[in-house]
Amino acid sequence: MKRLALHWWILIAMGFGVVAGIVSAQTGTTGFVLTWVDPVGEIFLNLLKMIAVPLVLFSLVAGVASLNDTSKMGRIGGKTIALYLGTTAVAITIGLIVVNLIDPGGDMSPETVERLRAAFQEEANQRVEAARQVSIVDQIVGIVPTNPFWALAETKMLQVVFFALMLGVALTRLRNKKDTAHIVTVFELLSDAIIEIVHLIMKIAPIGVFAMMASVIADLGEDPDKMRDLLGALVWYMLAVIIAIIIHATLVYGVLIGWLSKVPIGRFVRAMVPAQLLAFSSSSSAATLPVTIDCVEKEVGVDEEVSSFVLPLGATINMDGTGLYQGVAAVFIATVYGMELDLWQQVQIVLTASLASIGTAAVPGVGIVMLTIVLDQIGVPQDGILLILGVDRPLDMCRTVLNVTGDATVATVVASSEGLIHAPPGQS
Ligand code: ASP
Repeated sequence: MKRLALHWWILIAMGFGVVAGIVSAQTGTTGFVLTWVDPVGEIFLNLLKMIAVPLVLFSLVAGVASLNDTSKMGRIGGKTIALYLGTTAVAITIGLIVVNLIDPGGDMSPETVERLRAAFQEEANQRVEAARQVSIVDQIVGIVPTNPFWALAETKMLQVVFFALMLGVALTRLRNKKDTAHIVTVFELLSDAIIEIVHLIMKIAPIGVFAMMASVIADLGEDPDKMRDLLGALVWYMLAVIIAIIIHATLVYGVLIGWLSKVPIGRFVRAMVPAQLLAFSSSSSAATLPVTIDCVEKEVGVDEEVSSFVLPLGATINMDGTGLYQGVAAVFIATVYGMELDLWQQVQIVLTASLASIGTAAVPGVGIVMLTIVLDQIGVPQDGILLILGVDRPLDMCRTVLNVTGDATVATVVASSEGLIHAPPGQS
């Protein structure tokens, strides 16, 4: 009998996790799940995070240093950045169109607003405070690390990417004067070894995903009455985000893969399932990165030269799902507060949400912190996030899936344009 593919195991485990979470919420045993099952998911997530930073460093240095000419690097970089910015702006625009059509905030009663306000005031204050410490200029200055080892230790991805690129370029430039082949081989082998670790970790993925899903659902359902209440009030808002995500994925990524890449859509969709399931259950594109790289290289067939540069960068700066969600949320909150946003304000949402999504760290729940910056820009009270805090986690799961798929799409398109797509093993 053919072995059941890994993504089916993950999917089955996800289903069991959801059931376990619901049962524990119903039987009042959420404490047990959160104490004993949650750590299993956390260990799995830690394993993935453990390899994310070394993988970015080794694969980027190896990728850049093995490029034959630096102009190719500039070309790939230019295409990547243009596609990342373009797709994010389109994602936010789709979000704005959908939210304006559905108008989820239009008929929310003042009592519901009051109830949400009372429930989430304190948490909202903390997030607004966290956002106060973020400045766009500081973020740009912060790309350049003063100490790369500190950046590695603190998982400052953008700084790690910057340092790795410089080291890779320096090794390329030294090639004419010194024998750099050995050191490049070392980086290549290290990055292969890390991918091997990914394969080992993925052997326990179903158990990890089961534990993560069970604890997320148990946590959401700890207060089932409040959850039911929230879902009722916010169902249209959540639907607006989810519909916009589906439109962006099918329309924009569908067109990009279908028209601009040499990869059949079916192969791309099947290849991405493990990474998407992991993104959904972990809500972190950084933790998913090692698996994204593996899927894109081994299953889609993107050459390492492209994936090792495009994917780490994408996990750090390209967040279509987050930008789209910030657009929908900003309009929703404004409507509930009785504010009509004119066209200029909506254009400002596209601009600031694009920047905010670049600055969002690829870990759970940061998108909503950066949303406060977008709200501030268009003059909507920042504590408006308290209206949507209660349902942020499920939406975070969905937007992270889009973030990861967006990175993979751009990697596939860029690799196709450079003639760097191979048939994956077992296919031709
Ligand atoms: N969780 C998202 C990610 O890691 C970021 C966010 O929108 O909060 O991609």
